[in-house]
Parts: sequence; C-alpha cells; structure tokens
Amino acid sequence: MNYQAPLSDMKFILENVVDYNNLSSTNHFEDTSLEMTSAILNEAAKLAEEILSPLQRVGDLNPAILENGVVRTSPGFSDGYKAVADGGWIGVAANPRYGGMGLPLTIQTCVNEMMNGACLSLSLNPLMSQGQIDALEHHANDHIKSLYLPKLISGEWSGTMNLTEPQAGSDVGALTSKANNNNDGSYSISGQKIYISWGDSDFTDNVCHLVLARLPDSAPGTKGISLFIVPKFIPNHDGTLGQKNNLRVVSLEHKVGLHGSPTAVMEYDKAQGWLIGEESQGMKAMFTMMNNARLGVGGEGLGVAEAALQKAVKFASQRTQGKSPTNQTGSIIDFADVRRMLLTMKSKTYAARAICLATAVAIDMSKAANEKSWVARAALLTPIAKAFGTETGIEVSNLGIQVHGGMGFIEETGAAQFWRDVRVTSIYEGTNGIQAIDLVSRKLIDGGQAAFELINEINYLCENTPNELMKLSSELKTALDTLSEATSWMVMQKNLNERLAGATPYLESFALVLGAFFHLKGAIADNKAQSRVKLASFYMNHILPSVFSLCKSATAGSADIYKLSAKELNVI
Ligand SMILES: Cc1cc2nc3c(=O)[nH]c(=O)nc-3n(C[C@H](O)[C@H](O)[C@H](O)COP(=O)(O)OP(=O)(O)OC[C@H]3O[C@@H](n4cnc5c(N)ncnc54)[C@H](O)[C@@H]3O)c2cc1C
Repeated sequence: MNYQAPLSDMKFILENVVDYNNLSSTNHFEDTSLEMTSAILNEAAKLAEEILSPLQRVGDLNPAILENGVVRTSPGFSDGYKAVADGGWIGVAANPRYGGMGLPLTIQTCVNEMMNGACLSLSLNPLMSQGQIDALEHHANDHIKSLYLPKLISGEWSGTMNLTEPQAGSDVGALTSKANNNNDGSYSISGQKIYISWGDSDFTDNVCHLVLARLPDSAPGTKGISLFIVPKFIPNHDGTLGQKNNLRVVSLEHKVGLHGSPTAVMEYDKAQGWLIGEESQGMKAMFTMMNNARLGVGGEGLGVAEAALQKAVKFASQRTQGKSPTNQTGSIIDFADVRRMLLTMKSKTYAARAICLATAVAIDMSKAANEKSWVARAALLTPIAKAFGTETGIEVSNLGIQVHGGMGFIEETGAAQFWRDVRVTSIYEGTNGIQAIDLVSRKLIDGGQAAFELINEINYLCENTPNELMKLSSELKTALDTLSEATSWMVMQKNLNERLAGATPYLESFALVLGAFFHLKGAIADNKAQSRVKLASFYMNHILPSVFSLCKSATAGSADIYKLSAKELNVI
C-alpha cells in the first residue's frame, strides 16, 4: 500500500480543534471557507498519493549524484517536481501579486504534510523555495521582488538557504563568508557553505541562493551579518537568464537517509549577489525564512510519522504469530504490546498534527488580525511545533520498525527508510536543543505571559468539559498544573543556565500537554462516534503521565548536570 493522505483527520482538526473558522472571519482570509479548503486538500492528496509517493523508494535507491559539476537528480524527480510546480503547490500561501494563491499558511501546512509523507526528499525542495519566497516578500526591494518572486512561485527557479559553514553550525555568528560592495548595486560574495539542501538540481532553470556573509569592518557575531541573493545564473532585467555566476557545487554529502535530496558543499568565488534588507541586518531577514521553515520542518516530521503509522498498521493487521489472549483478528495487532506501539504512534501523530496546525493558524491570525497576542502565540508555538513534530516523526518511525520485527530492519519494507529520512529533521533548521533554548529564553522573556495565556485557555476547557468526559479533563488538569508550576519556576530563574539545563524536557512537557488539550477538544467534538474519545483516553493514561517526570527534570537545575566533570565523562 502506498501513502494515503490523512484528509479526514486534517479536516476534523481544522474544523473542530484549531479554530480554523477564525481565519475566514477576518477580512484578510474571508474567502477561505472550510468547503473550499477541503476541495484544495483533496487535489493535493491526489498529487501526494499518485505522483509523489511512487518516488519515495526510487530516491532512496538512486541518490542524487554530482557528475562533472552538475547535480543529476533521482529518476522521476523532475516529473514529480513539475507536477508540484504546475499545480501551484509551491506558492499556496504566497502573495497573489507575484503569482501566489494568497491562501492561509495553514493550507500550505496541510499540503506540505501530504507531500512530506509521500516523498520527503523531493518535498524538501519546494519547502526551501517557500522559505525564500517568504524572506523576499518581507525584506527584498521591489526590483528583486518582481524579478525573483514570480519565477520562484511558479517553480521555474528554486531557492536555497546558506547559513552553515564548517566552523559555524548552531553558532551562525561564527560565519566568515565575505561580501564586498561592487558599488554598482551588487556585491561580491566569497566563501564556502556546507550541507546546503538542494544546492543544485537538473530540473529548474535557475537556483537562487540566499547567502549570509559579512561586509568588511562589520560587527562580530550575528550583528555583523548581511543577507544576499546569489543566483546560479544572473537574471537579465526581463527575467531571462544571463551569464553563469561564480559559484559551484564542490561535492554532495553521503547521508544516513534523505538520499534523493542533494546536500551540497557550495563554493562562492567572488559571486555576484544582491543585498536583501539592510546591511548587517541579515539575521532579521533570515529569521523570517527560518521561522517559516521551522514550522515546515515540524511538518516534515509529522508527514513521515503518518506514513510510518500507516505502514505499521497494515503490516500488523496481516502478520500472524501465535495467539493473543484476546485473539480478535488472529494477527499481531491483537497483542497488547503491539497495540501499545500503534496507539502511541497514532495518538502522538494526531497531537503533532494539531500542534502544527494550531501554530499555522496562529501565524495566519497574526497576519490577518494584527493583534499582539496572536504574534506572541505564534512565536511561542513555533519552536514547540518544530521540535515535537520532528521528535514524533523519529519516535513513530522507530516504533514502526519495531512493529515490523525483523522485516523492519530489512530495507525492502520501507519502514527503515522513514526513520533514516526523518532522523535529520531534529538536527537541521536549528537543532531541537536550540528550539528548546529559544522557548525557555526568548519565548519566556515576557515573564511567561504568552505561555500562561495558553495555560489559562487549557484550564478553561478543563473546567468546562462535558460531564461524561470529566475523567479525560481531570488527567489533563493535573498535568497542566504541573506544567504551570514548571513555567513559574523557569520564569523565576535569574541564572539563565538553570533554565537551559531543563529546556528540552520543558519543551517536551509543554508539547505533551498541548497534545492532551487537542485530544480533549477532539473527544468533545466526536462524542458520538467515540473513536476519538478512545484515542484521547489512551493518550491521557499512557502518554501524558510523562509530563510529571519531564517537569521534575526541567526544574532540577544545572547542578547535577555539571557535577561530573568533562574529564570524568571520559574516564569512569
Ligand atoms: C541533511 C542536512 C541538510 C541541511 N541543510 C541545510 C541547509 O539547507 N542550509 C544550511 O544553512 N544548513 C543546513 N544544514 C545544516 C544544519 O542546519 C546544521 O547541521 C545544524 O544547524 C547544526 O549545526 P552543526 O551540524 O554544526 O552542529 P553543532 O552546532 O556543532 O551542534 C552539535 C550539538 O551541540 C549542540 N549545541 C550547539 N550549540 C549549542 C548551544 N548554544 N547550546 C546548547 N547546545 C548546543 C547542538 O544542539 C547539537 O546537539 C543541513 C544539515 C544536514 C545534515
């Protein structure tokens, strides 16, 4: 069985769980009814199931290669990309003035989830372009916008993002790529960038690189970084392609997974580039791109989780091994431990989907309603969506291998590919450790106001849950109180390293409570069919209790973390 788009779950969550209707009540998105959204998602599902899904294994077995300085992509990827571009799926949320559909990012997030679940390595390409489109829309001048955006949105050209250098990974401020003003409106860019996703391909006419570099005498660290657009072919004023720029792919990385996506070492040797935004304000523009991409990468984890879940359920329904005490179907799906794994996979995938979509709605609302509280909500949720979406992808695909037993370790089932492909998502776009640091430092800088507003909203639902579901809400309420105490503890710490020591468990506990909130909302909306009540019940009793141990670790401080010296880590 190939991938099947989870349309009914998406539509259910949009309608009942993340208040998507709020969007259509704004002027900005007034034409975005659920009915219209549903029709768009149905079309995207066809693309994912029929065109992209067959490419998943092809890309794994036939990685992109570098041949005489040119990247040759996996068989079929060119046609797959063309279908994505021709369908307008790259620019779902992009500005209509430049050819985009102008629809909510929430719709793009659903579409991206489907493309990711079908073939992650190919769908990473349009995701990179989407981030670039967003950055240019917000920070580029009108000339650059009108030259680049229509081609990026139509998919004739693709976009990349170039931050990382050998000595500058999480520490972006350590980058040394140089820029010099040519005094003709352009700049000369030199340096080496590593790990550049889709650094080149053979299916777009041009590849446009957003490159971070330093001007002479700029301030050290992130303050002195500027952002440039550096195209592979320099466009003429009418958008036709001019001469080849002084940049090249030096090599492609050999990776654990994601083989269909060429990850390039790029060299810029006095390449011609154009400034985006102000000089030394590059990080501001890059953050626009990274914020968009962080939710996008959370959606990558989610897409793979869904695909891995589907494969595992199918396998478990067919594989027979002895009899279980319940013996309902005769397959391994009857065994309690297999059920536990499948329910963990399903309930966490649902939680991750709801968190990603709630984040997308908050981003859309901050654009449409221009209210500070939505901006703060979007900022709070973004690192959670990135980290929890990707960790869920990794955990679910790992459990998927386990459900398959020995066959999970044999490549032909495809269960292992999900895990290999999704593993990197907790590393790129800011490691999940960096996301957690963002949450406990920048996102609590308001004294926890945005966090407590959300906690209060969850509390309100707990206190207003219908009687028959009170058992679910009381489990949530206890975990919520624990999270609330941990949040107060975080806010009270004067020494930042005390917060940082507990950042990752804090982020995870926040995500698990949010997941429970969305499960409860789902259960309330689906009180008749009851299947979502049963799923929520599993989540509250088997997944949510981790919040207590996570919050204990989150608030334990740094003392134990530093008691054992770095030397002792090596020798005892
Ligand atoms: C397949 C792939 C595709 C990629 N695509 C792109 C791309 O398109 N463009 C691009 O620019 N980059 C890309 N990257 C690079 C990616 O963003 C970096 O790998 C990532 O930012 C981490 O940097 P690093 O590898 O140098 O690890 P490091 O920064 O060295 O981190 C190592 C470990 O230390 C931790 N750490 C580092 N600093 C801190 C800190 N201050 N506090 C706490 N912990 C910390 C990290 O969380 C991590 O666990 C890609 C990487 C891969 C593998």
